[in-house]
Amino acid sequence: MKLVEYLELKRRVREKLSTLIPESRLKVVQRDPHTRRKPIGCGLTVHVGYGCTNRCLYCYIQDMGFSFKGVKPSPLSGLELAYALTLNPYFIPGKLGTFLAIGSITEPFHRVNVNVTLEFMRYVRLYLGNPLQFSTKMYLDIDLARKIRDFAGSNISPLVTVVTIRFSEKLEPNAPPPQLRFESIENLRRVGLKPQLFMRPVIPGITDIEAKDIVAEAKTRGVVGVVIGGFRVTKRIISRLRSVGLNVDYILAYTPKTPTGSEQIPLNITDIRRGIVENVKEYGVILHFHACCACAFTHSVPCWNLCWIRNGCTKCPNQCWIKQPSIDESSVCDLLEYMGVKFKDISVTTDRITVHVRGKVYPRELPIILSTLTRRTTSIVTEK
Ligand code: SF4
Ligand code: SF4
Repeated sequence: MKLVEYLELKRRVREKLSTLIPESRLKVVQRDPHTRRKPIGCGLTVHVGYGCTNRCLYCYIQDMGFSFKGVKPSPLSGLELAYALTLNPYFIPGKLGTFLAIGSITEPFHRVNVNVTLEFMRYVRLYLGNPLQFSTKMYLDIDLARKIRDFAGSNISPLVTVVTIRFSEKLEPNAPPPQLRFESIENLRRVGLKPQLFMRPVIPGITDIEAKDIVAEAKTRGVVGVVIGGFRVTKRIISRLRSVGLNVDYILAYTPKTPTGSEQIPLNITDIRRGIVENVKEYGVILHFHACCACAFTHSVPCWNLCWIRNGCTKCPNQCWIKQPSIDESSVCDLLEYMGVKFKDISVTTDRITVHVRGKVYPRELPIILSTLTRRTTSIVTEK
């Protein structure tokens, strides 16, 4: 498929969806944040709802302005969500398109969100066909696991979070206990999906100590891989952890500075994560450092976040470098013309695309569109 054809496909799907949505709703959808949100590392986050009552002590959604007191499902229908995504300038439909991630700022399988989550999954599969991932801490019984497979398709990338067994009651007071989450893994596997254990946040002194036990149990339940993630703290998170007697000085030793206000400070735990890899590799599960890699692996496409070029590649069996699309310069030129970009010249190498743009202005989505479609890092050089 030529690069331009992806944008043409997006236009056609957008037009079709706009005819299926009642006129009175079109304006509501056009104002929805899904029409303009920029993708982040895991992909474009799809919000099935807002807020969460699990109240995990390490959670930063309150610092982002969302509630711990209740859950509000998204006001969009599945059809409307699909339409909203086609309005998003950063979004590209299809298997090689933008990764979609469900599970931030709410719990997708909280009882209030379940139906919205399933409906969103269904419409993404029906109209867009993008790689889709979800993360959860809820108990997914066999019927729900089957529904997820039937609505989303058997390629969906499920992540089930367990970061501690011993301290779960303290740190995740309202979430189902880890033993039920291990059952979720088992049920997802039984219906033919490929669940991965989501070890995020990695809490120094807790997750690294328990990693072996957690992975051992997940392995017996059929998990195919483990995502060993990071940890971002805020002032509020630190004070919550302190209130239950955790040694926060030990955690703060991994931060470059003490967080203030609602700023999120990532811990520098590269060594801890590498230590976990060493500790759990005997279990023969696939290991990833980023959620996007789990999604890429499950869908058998090159990681949209280019981890094998940028950083964090564990050289998993997905071997993204082999799956990277081959690109000829004329295809890139056609795409630039289609997007109305005035350019002087371009160069394409194995890892990078460089575009010399005439003038200082170009569409803000250009770097993301180019890197998603070509699976190369993108550099835009502006000229007078
Ligand atoms: S389940 Fe997720 S969203 Fe909900 S409180 Fe815990 S970390 Fe936050
Ligand atoms: S090969 Fe590397 S970059 Fe690709 S999915 Fe696996 S870990 Fe990620």
